[in-house]
Amino acid sequence: MQGPSIGGVSVPRGDGKTVIQVRQGASLTDFADKINASPGSLVTVMFHLGEMATATQSLDEDTFRLLGAELGYDIRMVSPEEEEKELFDAFSINLEIGVDAEDEEDLAARPPVVTVMGHVDHGKTRLLDAIRNENVAGGESGGITQHIGAYQIHKEHEGVDRPITFIDTPGHEAFTAMRARGAKVTDIAILVVAADDGVMPQTIEALNHAQAADVPIVVAVNKIDVEGANPSKIRQQLTEYNLVAEEYGGETMFVDVSAKQGENIDALLEAVLLTADAALDLRANPDRDARGVAIEANLDKGRGATATVLIQSGTLRVGDAIVTGSSYGRVRAMLDEHGQNLTEATPSRPVQVLGLSSVPRAGDTFVVAPDDRTARQIAERRESADRQASLAKARKRISLEDLNEAIAQGKVDTLNLILKGDVSGSVEALEDALLQIDVGEDVDLRIIDRGVGAITMNNINLAVASNAIIIGFNVRAEGLNADYAEREGVEIRYYSVIYQAIEEIEQSLKGMLKPEYEEVELGTAEIREIFRSSKFGNIAGSIVRSGEIKRGTRARITRNGVVVSENVEIAGLRRFKDDVTEVREGFECGINLGSYNDLQIEDLISTYEMREKPRA
Ligand code: GDP
Repeated sequence: MQGPSIGGVSVPRGDGKTVIQVRQGASLTDFADKINASPGSLVTVMFHLGEMATATQSLDEDTFRLLGAELGYDIRMVSPEEEEKELFDAFSINLEIGVDAEDEEDLAARPPVVTVMGHVDHGKTRLLDAIRNENVAGGESGGITQHIGAYQIHKEHEGVDRPITFIDTPGHEAFTAMRARGAKVTDIAILVVAADDGVMPQTIEALNHAQAADVPIVVAVNKIDVEGANPSKIRQQLTEYNLVAEEYGGETMFVDVSAKQGENIDALLEAVLLTADAALDLRANPDRDARGVAIEANLDKGRGATATVLIQSGTLRVGDAIVTGSSYGRVRAMLDEHGQNLTEATPSRPVQVLGLSSVPRAGDTFVVAPDDRTARQIAERRESADRQASLAKARKRISLEDLNEAIAQGKVDTLNLILKGDVSGSVEALEDALLQIDVGEDVDLRIIDRGVGAITMNNINLAVASNAIIIGFNVRAEGLNADYAEREGVEIRYYSVIYQAIEEIEQSLKGMLKPEYEEVELGTAEIREIFRSSKFGNIAGSIVRSGEIKRGTRARITRNGVVVSENVEIAGLRRFKDDVTEVREGFECGINLGSYNDLQIEDLISTYEMREKPRA
């Protein structure tokens, strides 16, 4: 149905019940596609509704509803998850995994997948090495030679050979980054606590992350070889966080180990299996097309894009067409952690896959598709969905500028900071000074990580997972990392003077950070005719479409909804022969834009003013 024209444009209209699905982060161009309209016409409609939007800017739900109500469409916003499900439904691929989604007789036991977490320097990396080595000594052929992001070991338990899969990226950062993408990989977390150091901030952080994900914890009390180590103190400390040791009547297994001396590692593995058997139903259907998660990926000079995937359900075979994230291909070869070729991989097995078109991201799910073409189509659809999603995310998760507002609205009660500096002295000085800020009662200031060196991917992932702001003191995030932070909406503030960093953070906590400005639209005019004048340059013969046009204000020129220029001055304004200071809606006028000359008929001139935004 072609409705009455709005503001000189006509747009196909719905009957009020026509449902249009819009994905989060969509723009007017996406919406125009769905209703067969031109993006420019929707920009004009938005003007008339009092909203200034460009064709490609991503809009929020309320704005789409406003537009929908005007045009007779029932807008339904879809989440990325719903969209993903619809995408796979369209190709008849079943995404459901897990015990409940399968018939009882199809299920077979699968090994537990374990992540090692804990405070920095408490021995996570060393423990992962010790577990690997223990297994070599235990007769594993060849030893574990390759780093592929995960490995599997074997442990004899009650006379049965039981494999266990370890994610080889220690820390809750990677765990949480994957969870942020919707991938649940870990079945059990080993929380490493150094007996000579005790419970530290990241111990609690890790514990919180594991508990939030409903992942059972086994505590490895490490460094018991160090003199003065006090394992029972760790048990005591952790009771405060709802981790009560079995010997104290709780449900959590604590094992005292020395990663350095390889002591008690076997008992730790035993505890992992006992906890898995008691708390979890670890079964999967091996007889279906494989599905899983990419846990690590990189570009290899000789072999092209490689990804380590963890199989969660089904069996992956060489020759399968797969799609992971927006990357696709045919499995050319599969390697295990010993660098040996595999022809098939069953649930909980990590394998390095060769043959993908590009490098997926950690946390991307992968599925086997019926054929190459379907794999490619799914990858392409996902890629465009990703682009939309990243546009939507470009808004900052949390920023110093709006911190106070967020606190007032109860959205945050903690300012989490990650400090990175060029030398440890300055990081410490900054941390000390920050912790002395009197922050008032409404908010906590926490420094959840600090370190020396450039801002890394890991820092950014932690910031994503914990809603933190990163402070770079004489260091920066570069290249890919800077792009990643931008995409994920993580704020990074750079400083080279300590007191300046402290002052800004203090002011933001008190809501006194420099005033914020917002753009207020004053009026829009549409160009109907262009007069060339040698004396004055071009004059745009225009009609004022909304508000009023004032001399001396700043304007933005848009053409078919696309901004062609910003910050152009309304240098002169005329009605017939008279110079005037303002012209109101509905009237014609001549607009002189000074030396700016790139004008076309139907361009929109919108004027705006920056006004100080009152603080909440
Ligand atoms: P991560 O930051 O948690 O990965 O910690 P690392 O595994 O890198 O270990 C930090 C430091 O503690 C290293 O110097 C290790 O050699 C040392 N370390 C780890 N485990 C033990 C242990 O059981 N005993 C002793 N004495 N030192 C250990």
